[in-house]
Amino acid sequence: MITAKARAVFRPEGPFKLTTIERRELKPQDVLIEIKYAGICHSDIHTARGDWGPVNYPLVPGHEIAGIVTQVGSEVTKYAVGDRVGVGCMVDSCRECVNCQRGEEQYCLSGNTGTYAAIDRYGQYTQGGYSTHIVVTEDFVVRIPDGMELDVAAPLLCAGITTYSPLRHWGAAPGKKIAVVGFGGLGHMAVKLAHAMGAEVTVLSQTLKKKEDGLRLGADHYYATSDPETFKTLAGSFDLIINTVSAKIDINAYLSLLALDGTLVNVGAPAEPLPVQVFSLIPHRRSFAGSMIGGIRETQEMLDFCAEHNIAPEIEVISANQIDEAWERVLVSDVRYRFVIDIRTMENE
Ligand code: NAP
Ligand code: ZN
Ligand code: ZN
Repeated sequence: MITAKARAVFRPEGPFKLTTIERRELKPQDVLIEIKYAGICHSDIHTARGDWGPVNYPLVPGHEIAGIVTQVGSEVTKYAVGDRVGVGCMVDSCRECVNCQRGEEQYCLSGNTGTYAAIDRYGQYTQGGYSTHIVVTEDFVVRIPDGMELDVAAPLLCAGITTYSPLRHWGAAPGKKIAVVGFGGLGHMAVKLAHAMGAEVTVLSQTLKKKEDGLRLGADHYYATSDPETFKTLAGSFDLIINTVSAKIDINAYLSLLALDGTLVNVGAPAEPLPVQVFSLIPHRRSFAGSMIGGIRETQEMLDFCAEHNIAPEIEVISANQIDEAWERVLVSDVRYRFVIDIRTMENE
């Protein structure tokens, strides 16, 4: 076993404590990664607090991982010691089902293996990236492009791919009007990516507090959803809406903003149901859809797209002893726009 330092919660509300965890000895296709940075995703909070169901404690969250390969198994072909790599939300899948074969491992019919809070094929409970090292099979590791810093690469592994994938799937391109609901970690990446794909982008945020940032980062328009006029002005206007909100919202109000044949894709994953009135969908042949991260091949494509278009998340780097504080700020929508943990700060603790 390989011992790693980690920050874990021992109960739903935390706080985080320093601990040690065991990583498996390298199998022939495994790589050992020394983690340099780990992003903080709202899903870490949902999971730790049991919003999506019970989990085991201690729990080490973190699925936006960027680091360096420090050891490779005997059959590894894709990576070598010293390579700059990333790991996102999943570390394995069956690799045989029709969805895995299509490169959509996130939709594996047997369920993908989450980077944390899952049982892997060896029967071990997975622990995430708020730690110094991780062992992952090479097929679930992606390469961080040259010239992209590791700190900004980290959030792309979840926030980046989760917004890139539906934008691609639903055809973000010039001439398309796209709205992004919620301007946080995922939301700000959706704005940057949709803008780079040539779409006309509108942010729908609770208030106008972050309007300047929104326009600077690529939005063409920015509206406050607390203003009822917004829903009148924008009725029937979008081809695609990406909802990134982590809480329950009145989804019917947002569906009314879709144009004919428009689609609202929910990537936000609140614990509560979002009840849909069929008459929000029927009159304009609208669709209500969901989307989960993206496959490994598409994650690599997204990283390369970001490198090519000079796209990086707006980050605030914190030390490992500031995670509790950062989580509190995420919970009150006070994040601009992704917290990233500098894992080196854990090594001296
Ligand atoms: P985040 O940084 O906290 O952003 C969420 C944003 O939603 C906030 O910045 C805020 O934007 C808005 N918001 C929060 N509470 C709200 C409320 N009560 N009413 C209206 N708007 C509210 O979170 P994130 O990391 O981007 O994650 C967002 C959601 O996506 C989470 O539920 C997460 O679990 C989920 N997620 C899903 C996937 C997937 O594969 N589908 C992957 C990653 C994350 P404004 O301040 O602009 O209003
Ligand atoms: Zn995430
Ligand atoms: Zn599968």
